[in-house]
Amino acid sequence: MTDYFVESVGSVPTLYVFRNIFEAKEISEQIQLFAGIYEEELNKSFIEFWSLNSDKILAERLWINETNREPIWFAESDVESYQNFCEQIYVEQYQIYIKIYYEYYKHLHKSLTEKFDDLPISCEEEIDASFVDDFEKLQLLGLPTAFGRGTVVKQTKSKRSYPKVYSGYFSDEDNDCATVMDPVKINDLKDDDVKNSGTSSVHDIEVKVIGKKKKNRKLKGVPDFVLENKEILKYWRKRFSLFSRYDDGIRLDCESWFSVTPEKIATHLADRLSCDLIIDAFCGCGGNAIQFARTCNRVIAIDIDPIKISMAKHNAKIYGVDHKIDFIIGDFLQLSRCGRFHSDIIFLSPPWGGPKYKRKDHYDIENYLQPCSASSLMETAKSISENVVFYLPRNTTISQVIKLADKGNRCEVEHNYLDSRLVAITALYGESILKEKDI
Ligand code: ADP
Repeated sequence: MTDYFVESVGSVPTLYVFRNIFEAKEISEQIQLFAGIYEEELNKSFIEFWSLNSDKILAERLWINETNREPIWFAESDVESYQNFCEQIYVEQYQIYIKIYYEYYKHLHKSLTEKFDDLPISCEEEIDASFVDDFEKLQLLGLPTAFGRGTVVKQTKSKRSYPKVYSGYFSDEDNDCATVMDPVKINDLKDDDVKNSGTSSVHDIEVKVIGKKKKNRKLKGVPDFVLENKEILKYWRKRFSLFSRYDDGIRLDCESWFSVTPEKIATHLADRLSCDLIIDAFCGCGGNAIQFARTCNRVIAIDIDPIKISMAKHNAKIYGVDHKIDFIIGDFLQLSRCGRFHSDIIFLSPPWGGPKYKRKDHYDIENYLQPCSASSLMETAKSISENVVFYLPRNTTISQVIKLADKGNRCEVEHNYLDSRLVAITALYGESILKEKDI
């Protein structure tokens, strides 16, 4: 079994969100619609992505130089170097975007039609990103080419300088004891290698093949509780992507390491779902509730497990938002029956059944979710709010997600990628929280 290390540039993984609105009706019609305008959708989507994220991405690259952990500087007068730097990042992002968008499209297509061999030809062509090898060509594609100026600029670095590549882990395997070998270009890999890898989430910016277990991997600096439970090691290595303030004393139990929403996704969802009152019905150790507290006036965070609630409270304190959250220990299903809860939005991140969920080809939300089926959860949630959001496994059967909207109604399906790894699917129900594609 070959695993891949797909790398991106920057200190933290980049979040890519792709979304589509569906009506709960004949599914084949919808995929046809989307297929007809693939290229247009791709470019529209990239323009939206770049307009929302370019400042953040450029700032990350400017401020964190992975080689020596120092910022990159450009002199005030050296406009050209700065412009070149921005162009380089822009082209690189577009190349990555094409690959991930294609993965997204394939995922949607496969999940909705359950056929893998009838992707439109124009779409297959898109996977060759090498044609976008310079900035001028992007200009010809009509994509935006204007960049803002960085804020603090003091001294010149010799010529152009780019930060080193950051390595993100993208294996589906639970075992993280692997060796990183020489980088290879994806183009050098045979098709079979890719197929056998169990993951097709690769792009040709930088790919490293991970070999078999190395016996004496350095475990220097790894805390005892991780050494005692090696399953956590993979998650511990990504600790700052789960909680950027991990080092301030974040508390997580074993279950939470596997199930907490990575901070970039939680932040994105909180920005999207900003409202007066939101309920987080399965709050766990607080990853989502903490971010909701930033953007909503009030948060009700429910969990059946008192230990989870005490960790969530502690973690919320670290982020300075505990005063905005009402923590409730209790069974969400029982609490909802009392009829006293009403909110603008209800957010459901129910148990997926532990890390084993990944092994299923199609995750059946009617049978595998706990404590009850998605339809029952939806019915319960609807008695509390007309706006319902589900945070679901990446292998969720999309047709079931659409069905949950009920005939005549619509839902939005978001694919949440961190770098090239599809982490989860977010499904949104309720007209007032759907986001039309209007760019
Ligand atoms: P996963 O299977 O995704 O790892 P978890 O097992 O961590 O998910 O479950 C998410 C959270 O939901 C946990 O903190 C768990 O205590 C909580 N939970 C489970 N059942 C209920 C329930 N009926 N009401 C409220 N919270 C619940």
